[in-house]
Amino acid sequence: MFHTQVLTLFPEFFDSPLSCSIPKRAIEAGHLTAEMIQIRDFATDKHRTVDDSPYGGGPGMLMKPGPVVDSIRAAREKQPDTHVVMLTPSGMPFTQAKALEFTKKPGITLLCGRYEGFDERICDYVDEEISLGDYVLSGGEPAALSVLDAVIRLLPGVLGSPESAVLDSFTEDGILDWPHYTRPVEFEGKAVPKVLLSGNHAKIDVWRKEKALERSNKRKD
Ligand code: SAM
Repeated sequence: MFHTQVLTLFPEFFDSPLSCSIPKRAIEAGHLTAEMIQIRDFATDKHRTVDDSPYGGGPGMLMKPGPVVDSIRAAREKQPDTHVVMLTPSGMPFTQAKALEFTKKPGITLLCGRYEGFDERICDYVDEEISLGDYVLSGGEPAALSVLDAVIRLLPGVLGSPESAVLDSFTEDGILDWPHYTRPVEFEGKAVPKVLLSGNHAKIDVWRKEKALERSNKRKD
């Protein structure tokens, strides 16, 4: 069983995405657990404060170290072998290889920031910092959800056909998936490539590999 935990100020953000489609079925089938931990529960003042202004001045507020670090400690107490991942634009880019690497851990804990981000000292309490891409989201939740989704579909037994994950884009040396077609054979004057209708599987394999390479090289240009 793979254990996921999310440290967040907005646990409700995950309600709908985890209650439909593949994540829902994976949780129901017992492939993983998903627990949301409210960072605000670890605030110690009566206003349950989790943010404060930056030393040195500047706009916005920062996540205070106290409540965040205590929430990380609580997550590690619940799941001692969990791999704690901070979501931050300054982290290493999230990739398919990283998603696969995460599935080999006993579980992951995803730490979501808000405001202008985290007090820098919090970095000392996490195992890894991950970025979803070179753009800025208003919070770590959409990033955590993407990581969760990419990881869940790679967990053994989750996909109906395990082959689909192996054939996905980025799995083999960063190569993209090939183009796919379904019925009808002709749509608004656009025909399905003849080779796919030929029934010749050797030829189809060659065509697919060529197209996948063509696409992958085009994207690199
Ligand atoms: N001031 C920060 C900066 O410029 O790097 C941005 C803070 S952002 C508004 C608030 C939170 O959203 C971050 O602490 C992080 O958790 C999350 N976040 C924003 N963009 C992200 C990205 N590309 N990848 C992962 N997390 C991101």
